[in-house]
Amino acid sequence: MAEPSRDPPSALSADFMSFSPGDTASRWLACADLQQEVYCHLAEYVPRILCQGGGMAEHREEQREEQREELALQLLLLAPLEWFLLGGEPAAGLALLQQGGGSAALCGHVFKVGEPTYSCRECAADPTCVLCMQCFLASAHRHHRYRMTTSGGGGFCDCGDAEAWKTGPSCQNHTPADQNRETEEDPVSLLPPAVEERSCSIFSIILQYAVDLLTWEQEDQLPAGLEPPQRSDSYYCMLFNDEVHTYEQVIYTLQKAVNCSQKEAVSFATTVDRDGRKSVRFGDHQFCEQAKAVIVRSTSRQSKPLRVQVMHSALVAHQCFALKALGWLGQIIQYSDGLRRILCQVGLRPGPEGENSSLVDRLMLNDSKMWKGARNVYHQLLMNSLLMDRKFKKLFAIRFAKNYERLQSDFIRDDHDRQFSITDLSVQIFTVPSLARMLMVEENLMMTIIRTFVDQLRHRDAQGRFQFDRYTAQQAFKFGRVQSLIGDLKYVLISPPPQWSQQLRTKFLDGFETFLDLLRCMQGMDPVVRQVGQHIEMEPEWEAAFTLQMKLTHIITMMQEWCSTDEHVLIEAYKKCLSALSQCQGGLPDGEQPISLSLAGHTVDTFRYQVSQEKVSIHLPMCRLLAGLHVLLSRTEVASRLPEQLPLGELSPHLLIELPLRCLVLCAQVHAGMWRRNGFSLINQIYYYHNVKCRVEMFDKDLAMLQVGASMMDPNHFLMIVLSRFELFHTFSAADLRRRYREANKDLAQQNTLIEEMLHLIIMVVGERYVPGVGQVEPLDEVRREILHQLCIRPMAHSELVKALPENGNKETGLERVIDSVASFRKPGVTGRGLYELRPEWSKRFDLYFHHYSRADQSKAEEAQRKLRRQNGEDTALPPPRPPPLCPLFGSLVNLLQCDTLLALEGAVLQWAVEPSGGGWTESMLQRVLHLVAMALLEEQQQLESSGADEDVSFTFSTRITRPGEAPSTSGSVLALLESLQNAPHLEVHKDMITWILKMVGNIKTTRERTSGSSVSVSHGRRPEESVRDKDKAERKRKAEMARLRREKVMAQMSEMQKHFINENKELFQQSMEDLEAAATATEHSPPSLEPTCVAHICVGPMRVGGAERRQLVTCILCQEEQEVRGHGRAMVLAAFIQRSTVLSKNRSRGIPDPERLDPLFMHPDLSVGVHTASCGHIMHATCWQRYFEAVQQKEQRRQQRLRGHTSYDVENGEFLCPLCECLSNTVIPLLPHACSPDRSVEHPCLETWLKRTNQQAAALDSTHRKQSHGAAQQVEPAVPDRFRVGFDLQNSFSSGVGEMINTFSMSAYKVGLKVNPNEQDPRVPVLSWSTCAYTLQSTERLLMDEKKPLFGSLPCRQDDCLSSLTRFSSACWTAAPIRTVQNHFIRLLSVLVPIPDSQLEDAPCILDVDMFHLLVYSVLSYSSLHSLDQSGRRSVDSAHLHLLHLVTVAHLVQVLLTFTTGELSMDQDGEESEEEQLTCQLYGRLRDHLGRCLPDISCGWRLWRCVRASVLPFLRTAALFFHYMNSASPPADLLGTGPGQWEALCSYLSLPSNLLLLYQNQRTLLEPLIHRWCCHPGVGQVLHGGGVLVRFPRESNRLIDLPEDYSILINQASSFTCPRSGGDKSRAPTLCLVCGCMLCSQSYCCQTEVEGEDVGACTAHTFTCGAGIGLFLRVRESQVLFVAGKTKGCFYPPPYLDDYGETDPGLKRGNPLHLCSERYQKIERLWRQHGIAEVIGHAQEANQTLVAIDWQHL
Ligand SMILES: [Zn+2]
Ligand SMILES: [Zn+2]
Ligand SMILES: [Zn+2]
Ligand SMILES: [Zn+2]
Ligand SMILES: [Zn+2]
Ligand SMILES: [Zn+2]
Ligand SMILES: [Zn+2]
Repeated sequence: MAEPSRDPPSALSADFMSFSPGDTASRWLACADLQQEVYCHLAEYVPRILCQGGGMAEHREEQREEQREELALQLLLLAPLEWFLLGGEPAAGLALLQQGGGSAALCGHVFKVGEPTYSCRECAADPTCVLCMQCFLASAHRHHRYRMTTSGGGGFCDCGDAEAWKTGPSCQNHTPADQNRETEEDPVSLLPPAVEERSCSIFSIILQYAVDLLTWEQEDQLPAGLEPPQRSDSYYCMLFNDEVHTYEQVIYTLQKAVNCSQKEAVSFATTVDRDGRKSVRFGDHQFCEQAKAVIVRSTSRQSKPLRVQVMHSALVAHQCFALKALGWLGQIIQYSDGLRRILCQVGLRPGPEGENSSLVDRLMLNDSKMWKGARNVYHQLLMNSLLMDRKFKKLFAIRFAKNYERLQSDFIRDDHDRQFSITDLSVQIFTVPSLARMLMVEENLMMTIIRTFVDQLRHRDAQGRFQFDRYTAQQAFKFGRVQSLIGDLKYVLISPPPQWSQQLRTKFLDGFETFLDLLRCMQGMDPVVRQVGQHIEMEPEWEAAFTLQMKLTHIITMMQEWCSTDEHVLIEAYKKCLSALSQCQGGLPDGEQPISLSLAGHTVDTFRYQVSQEKVSIHLPMCRLLAGLHVLLSRTEVASRLPEQLPLGELSPHLLIELPLRCLVLCAQVHAGMWRRNGFSLINQIYYYHNVKCRVEMFDKDLAMLQVGASMMDPNHFLMIVLSRFELFHTFSAADLRRRYREANKDLAQQNTLIEEMLHLIIMVVGERYVPGVGQVEPLDEVRREILHQLCIRPMAHSELVKALPENGNKETGLERVIDSVASFRKPGVTGRGLYELRPEWSKRFDLYFHHYSRADQSKAEEAQRKLRRQNGEDTALPPPRPPPLCPLFGSLVNLLQCDTLLALEGAVLQWAVEPSGGGWTESMLQRVLHLVAMALLEEQQQLESSGADEDVSFTFSTRITRPGEAPSTSGSVLALLESLQNAPHLEVHKDMITWILKMVGNIKTTRERTSGSSVSVSHGRRPEESVRDKDKAERKRKAEMARLRREKVMAQMSEMQKHFINENKELFQQSMEDLEAAATATEHSPPSLEPTCVAHICVGPMRVGGAERRQLVTCILCQEEQEVRGHGRAMVLAAFIQRSTVLSKNRSRGIPDPERLDPLFMHPDLSVGVHTASCGHIMHATCWQRYFEAVQQKEQRRQQRLRGHTSYDVENGEFLCPLCECLSNTVIPLLPHACSPDRSVEHPCLETWLKRTNQQAAALDSTHRKQSHGAAQQVEPAVPDRFRVGFDLQNSFSSGVGEMINTFSMSAYKVGLKVNPNEQDPRVPVLSWSTCAYTLQSTERLLMDEKKPLFGSLPCRQDDCLSSLTRFSSACWTAAPIRTVQNHFIRLLSVLVPIPDSQLEDAPCILDVDMFHLLVYSVLSYSSLHSLDQSGRRSVDSAHLHLLHLVTVAHLVQVLLTFTTGELSMDQDGEESEEEQLTCQLYGRLRDHLGRCLPDISCGWRLWRCVRASVLPFLRTAALFFHYMNSASPPADLLGTGPGQWEALCSYLSLPSNLLLLYQNQRTLLEPLIHRWCCHPGVGQVLHGGGVLVRFPRESNRLIDLPEDYSILINQASSFTCPRSGGDKSRAPTLCLVCGCMLCSQSYCCQTEVEGEDVGACTAHTFTCGAGIGLFLRVRESQVLFVAGKTKGCFYPPPYLDDYGETDPGLKRGNPLHLCSERYQKIERLWRQHGIAEVIGHAQEANQTLVAIDWQHL
């Protein structure tokens, strides 16, 4: 496998030395054939520089190689080009050019992947106009309403482009200094003529060279003139990218084919994916062919094989250089507009083959054959050159348009994403309105695009309509790609022209006609037939058709907008559309049976057609476009001004309404359940038909078409046709038919629904007037009405409203322009989001039958509105609001309301309603009829009000309803029926509405009588009386209602509060429940301040108070039995969760210690890793818990057999969920009894005596232990103190049950804390128990301190219980370990402070390497093992604790002073030094005596003391917590608050002098030698000289990193972040660690690392070092917080960034500017500091099972 020999690097270096680019350039200047000369040079050097094999060398080696290559390339290849171009030294020449030529006033910054882009929603011409961050910040748009997105790569900043911005086109940096330069001056004229000439020739040679090579298709040959001097047998096996094979397949194949490691395979695959190709093998021809054969063979099985080529190394080298050369061209032209233009000229100059032979054409036409990397480079060059030059942008646009069809076909066949295709440049060209219009006129662009699109979809049915249901996968793929053409069309149409030229009109209308051809292929596609009998077997395909419809929605709307700006165009388009529709519908009535319908004295001819039996289609784009144009005729008043030009006479309204009506009937029948057997496909279609994404050009236009038709027909005829299509004609046409029909037809419910739907349709046809052109309204009125009706349902967030409104082509809804007029904004709290609430005055505009309500929306809104009215003490009638007047063209619509047919319908329904039951009618039916009657009355009233005094109002509904009905039921007039129904008991709900109607009738009557001036007195006599009665009744009713409401409100409030409390504040709720539980069950839980106040509160030492023999009664949550906590009783346990923690770490770089070798006995003051214990506070019998846990285990085993999924907890690691609160737990803490009260009878030794005796005891034990283990006698037997029994056997004070639980918890702490397997023999077992106790206390104290809460009494019960049990457990856990082990620990701990005589202990650490609180806890807790041997009867354990406290405190004082730094400068305090300050100074002086110049000279006692006090305070507070819990000593009142006197109270509680220095001062003789020994420890000097980790005091609390206020700053940071592993690549998912601020390359193969034998993603790996398994991250591109625990667990959490509407934006989909919400960030921080992350993950995973399935370890 030897690689062929290559030039040793030194050979190249020699060329380096002797080569002169200047000389080469001069030679070129003089030569006759420049191209030959340059080619010759390239042929010689390119293969030598760029043909270095490559690939598998060591990473560092490879990097050095790359650098060398880069240098050689620069010097030998590019430098001569520059010398030649500039005719001298390049740097100077370029600077000169830059000065002389000036550069473009365009920014043109090309976006990187993930870079933030900004678009102004007020000023951008369209949403594709964007600014880069620098330009945005320097622009006026910063203060406008803007949208922020991240770029997908490609595209450039539009700053400086006057067409892209309505205002403020340039930022401050790109504002042209000289306005006159704007004029079209040829920039080439500014170049020196020699440079012009040389650049022309060298650019054409280099561009030609690059184009030749990039489009070269032979593998073994080179273009003429480039053959290398000596041809070698060296080849590359080149692997190309495709979108078919997965990463895994490629990696697997490569490992097999080229025999590389997985890592290398991953790296190859990554490069192939990024650059589009990568050589995977270098060697002779045969060697490479072998690899190719293997790759092709092993990937050809499932699909098309991977593309592999064996290419000659010289060819590959030239291709590499071609790319470099293009990059060079791109850079060089940045220096001068003149050079840029020359390059443009060269690029577009026609070649020898005429049409399409320019170099740019050749590149474009070969685009789909090139690999990704090559495409990217030349696209970038096009953007830097042609698209930045005003003149050539136009010429290029023409080339692009001419080649459009070919380029698109290439793209559609290609399998690369569009962003890698030349077709993607359309956005840069077509969105420039002037270019787009020019292309439309000159190149017929609109028609070209539409025609290309239609040509690509060839699959049609017999009628020529699109047929998607038989699509193969390949056709579906093609369909997916061809949709981008619609995007291009959208760019072209996005802004309607301000002026029309005659040519533009012609070309637009040509395009419009082609578009009609497209619609013709859609009209009637995917027809459905009602399935009877059997359910359909296969769901028909429907999505493709709807995708097409959805994509075209904006196009159709834009076409209409264009039409609306020019009368001529509108009229012509209308004619074309009408004639196209007539052609389509030509055969509509043929073959159908003509019938004649009669009702209410009217007759109409139509034909027989039943939706329920024949084909019907939802796709009617042609009808709908016509409807839209018709409304435009009305809106622009063209119809009234130029009626003679319109073919209105040719319209047959019957035919116009036919298809839309069928579609609406189909919806009604589906609602009525008549189409159940047609499956979900139909239901989905109906859903999208009404959906906000489609309805504008579907449902809305069908409704408009019915309005068009109805306004042109006799209203009776219209209604009869509607009845007939609803298949309801016979129900209403004969008097008693319905009764008979009812008996025959079991589907009465179905029929009732149809009647409801039909009545609703009539309401909408007459009532929906908010489309400009139908009613006299403005576009914003329409938006306002939509918002109003959404908010009538409930208050909504901004994003919900946006979703409910249709967007226009610019992604705007108009929401922001009207929202403040209809709604008020309510800000969000720490959770939830901001909401808009409807302003009360607008609820009067509520329309129950608003056409965009779904049935569910409608009933919610109705309920909400009735409730609101009741609350306001109003009646609950919901009459229709006053509608806006209709436009003249639609004016006759109102006659529907009073026509005979409708009156007959109304009469019939009211007649049915007289009978209470029978199912012949429904309440909704009645409600709709009442609504229709009310609409008619409103109409009449409005007409009366607006008419002049003597005008006759033709709308006479109120008179008509007094006439008895004509048919079918002759029982009475509509009015009479209403009056009789008013008091019907079964219509109580509708009473208010009927009353409203009758009142209205009365009012109208009065008005009419008043205007007609007669019989005024008649009504006058009746009305006052009636109104008094009415008023009275209303008042009574109102009062009763108010009372009921108050009751209801109180009830609702209570249940709401309860619910809210439980849901929103789950944790608190648990606590309060526990409070109740605890209060009921345990007598000990009286607040800690109940001791009589006269007794001094002391928690440690012989004087301590408390630890009384209080009985502790607790209840098991599993069996509900009560139990007393006793050492010998049944064991009780507390569910608990242990985890490693780095929350307090002052040193995150320490790395993970080797668990086998780690000695945890001395905690370093950097607290880099600790073990934290938390509990939910729920108590169980140990036996009950064991049984529960076994059940969980069994269940889990069964589950794993069934499906191998994870759960939210890991049973194998002992995890379970608390049976009561489901809190994640992994062990239990045993409950132990309180400590005994101190024995006050014994005499307590002073420090000196105790120290001496303890020393002796320790020494004796040490020697005995050594003797036992070594078996050999020692030289000197230390004297064993009096009555100290070295071999004394202890009797265990715990029952076996309790002992077992002590063991359980010890083992958990050991296992989790060290990440090892359980091992009871390990001497480190008890240390870990003490450690978790000390660490948990320490972190609790930090939290209390930082949240400024009192030390005692402010912890929630669950935490208080946890700490108390944990501490008491720790003080007893030594009993479970071998006593010798514990004694040894004590001796080693003591030796830090006090020398143990004759001991042969390994060196104790120096006091700068020990955390004093941990030392205190460990030594106090291990002391018992020593003390228990003392049989002298002097049970003075308490004084020992006190002495230990004193000693450690002094050590801590020394520790603080040793690490004191003068870093912070502050004013010195004036005046007398206090006693403390003096003593501190003295002590510091002593330390300096010992250590000399290691310590700075500080004479200011005030500063020293201030530091000491601040540093020792946390230690004292933590010690107070520790002794409080250990000895059950109640705290003094001062410590239950945060007032002054904390320090003194603390000292006295700890039995310390409040002047701490006295501890040292009073025992100087005893302590002085100890201090001397501490200072002289070699470690001290080492640390102080920087030889270790120096921790200074006070230790500051850790916080999460500071985040910027503006989210885009983060995005920008992330976009410039490159993957640390793959050499300068952009990271796909940059993720920020919130703990340390590290940016990571997440969710990517490149940054996977092996952790504990498994490949994990960057986040998980980082979590192990930074957070000991717990991680908090911000995924910057997603705007999402990620919590990770271990390898398998994680969840997402709402980010702390909100938009102005109080909402987060996960995935940055909406693009509103985001700002930091510090409250929410604090909440996350608190969660972390409370060690609550794992618990949050547990709850999230339990609530959402899909979270469990995510591969968290790969993030
Ligand atoms: Zn810019
Ligand atoms: Zn700019
Ligand atoms: Zn703006
Ligand atoms: Zn129990
Ligand atoms: Zn619990
Ligand atoms: Zn970190
Ligand atoms: Zn990476």
